[in-house]
Amino acid sequence: MKLFTPKNDDISVYIEDREYIANTYVLRCFSVTMIIYFITFLLNILGIFVIDQRLMWQGFIPSLIIYLAVYLALKKISLSDERTKYFILFNVIVVFTILGVSITYHVVLVSLLPFLYATLYSSKKVMRYVYILTVISTVIIVYGGYAFGLCDANMALLTTARLADHVVDGQFALSAVNSNPHFTLMLFYVVPRCLIYVAFMTICNSIFRIVSGSLEKAKLTAELEKAKIEAENANNAKSQFLARMSHEIRTPINAIIGMNEMIRRESSEEMIQGYAYDVKTSSELLLNIINEILDSSKIESGKMELVMDNYELGSLLNDLYNMIGFKAKEKNLQLVFEVEPTLPKACFGDDKRIRQILLNLLSNAVKYTNEGTVTLKVTCKTEGDTAQFYYTVKDTGIGIKEEDIGKIYDAFSRFELERNRHVEGTGLGMNIARQLLQLMGSELQMQSEYGKGSEFSFVLVQKVVDASPLGDFRKRILEGSKEKENNDYIAPKAKILVVDDSIINLKVFANLLKRTQIQICEAESGRECLHILGQQTFDMIFIDHMMPEMDGIETMHEIRANNLGNGAPIIMLTANAIMGDKEKYINEGFDDFLSKPIMPDKLDKMIMQYLPEDKVTIGVNE
Ligand code: ADP
Repeated sequence: MKLFTPKNDDISVYIEDREYIANTYVLRCFSVTMIIYFITFLLNILGIFVIDQRLMWQGFIPSLIIYLAVYLALKKISLSDERTKYFILFNVIVVFTILGVSITYHVVLVSLLPFLYATLYSSKKVMRYVYILTVISTVIIVYGGYAFGLCDANMALLTTARLADHVVDGQFALSAVNSNPHFTLMLFYVVPRCLIYVAFMTICNSIFRIVSGSLEKAKLTAELEKAKIEAENANNAKSQFLARMSHEIRTPINAIIGMNEMIRRESSEEMIQGYAYDVKTSSELLLNIINEILDSSKIESGKMELVMDNYELGSLLNDLYNMIGFKAKEKNLQLVFEVEPTLPKACFGDDKRIRQILLNLLSNAVKYTNEGTVTLKVTCKTEGDTAQFYYTVKDTGIGIKEEDIGKIYDAFSRFELERNRHVEGTGLGMNIARQLLQLMGSELQMQSEYGKGSEFSFVLVQKVVDASPLGDFRKRILEGSKEKENNDYIAPKAKILVVDDSIINLKVFANLLKRTQIQICEAESGRECLHILGQQTFDMIFIDHMMPEMDGIETMHEIRANNLGNGAPIIMLTANAIMGDKEKYINEGFDDFLSKPIMPDKLDKMIMQYLPEDKVTIGVNE
């Protein structure tokens, strides 16, 4: 059974094996047939068998020629070629017909061959031909034998008389002993033979089907196994590539954004400020593109998970207004937030992703609108402790052609490239928004009229955490911005240790906190960090993830194991967005997580959260 064992490692070799099996089987069958025939022939010559010499020659010579032809064909041509199969089938039928005239068991043996093909290649079509040809050739054999006065041993045995009684003037003559030869031929020769052949073939076929069935199954298993391994490898390679690329790209963007922030803060020259502003928007755009690609592949590989937490609706809308507001202003568009004041203040859900969905829809609305208004409408129906939010983003923009509407959610699809050539985008935004909503159990709806505008809407069911009304949203925005202005702080007594193998990143980190007067100590490796911690204590420790020798996670474990940090919060600082899930780092033992590129306000927020209150003075720079 060695040949039926699939070689898991290389399926092509295995398929070749399968052809080899079919070839070998058929050739063996042919050879056995010919040997039997040859023995019969010898016995006949020696006078032991009672068959007419002429019949033997008539059958033997052509079948030997055909045998050689088929043998050579099988040796030379690949069986995967359909024509070869039919050529062989044809040959076999010819041999079958010629030999069948003289020796019955030949017919049976030879007719096995097409069956081998039919079953080994699971071809029902070939099977059907074989059945039909069997019946036809049986009729030809029987009637041919009768018409030309030929006979075979079975024909003689099936009559009541002995063989010798059929021979009249040296010729076989059924009529000599039978008054109704046609009826006899049909009833005793054609019908029983057809039945026997077909039954025999069916049994053979079943046996071969079982064999080839297990062969097929084994082949399929091997193919599936191989495809699975290949897919897993490809997916792993993709994830690794993305993680690496993400890290590689985010690291320099971190430096660009950080250094540019320094220019913005320290230069008073208007022109330089203008340049720095352009660098800021471009690098943020680049970061956005990378994030979209990462999100998309994360969703695709099923790695996207929702991170549920309590969130304030006001701050979500506030952020969106701040982010979209200036973009709308740049294009002279009116941005309207129609937010019901009765909305619940706080809910439970993944606000980061809700923000992302709305940001995608709103920035598209701004991107694809040249004049008029972009509106975000939020209403809500509350029932018990759950609320159904109705979000609608409407614009008076270019709209989408009817034929493009169905394709809008396809990844990387962008329309009217000529018209939109100045509009940046990856074509992933809508796809991501839709898939994120699906994760949240919602569906993105859209309506669009070409030339007039579009409307995107979705319903989101969220658990209400604080049902008190949100109130006037605009007021909240104003309060929010005031809060932000007053948010500057200094902490000259605080000490922070930052660990990163990239000197430029250390510089960015230190510069971002320069105005706060915090004492920053820098370490370029995990070892150096442990060494410093052995001598000094800090209020906070920021550690980069990917570092040569000892990475961030190992360093943190060492700090914890040797009680070095003196209880200071340890924050993971990483450019690795694929593994960058906060939960994972927290489970690993970090207190929090900050992704690179470091956004200055996020860094400030985190420092304010973790530094001891008595070391921070708020609102000093105002
Ligand atoms: P992109 O990054 O190109 O904006 P999206 O997936 O967000 O990719 O959108 C896909 C395409 O759908 C866009 O390129 C644009 O042609 C069309 N589209 C999306 N939103 C709007 C809209 N509000 N108005 C008109 N066309 C839109």
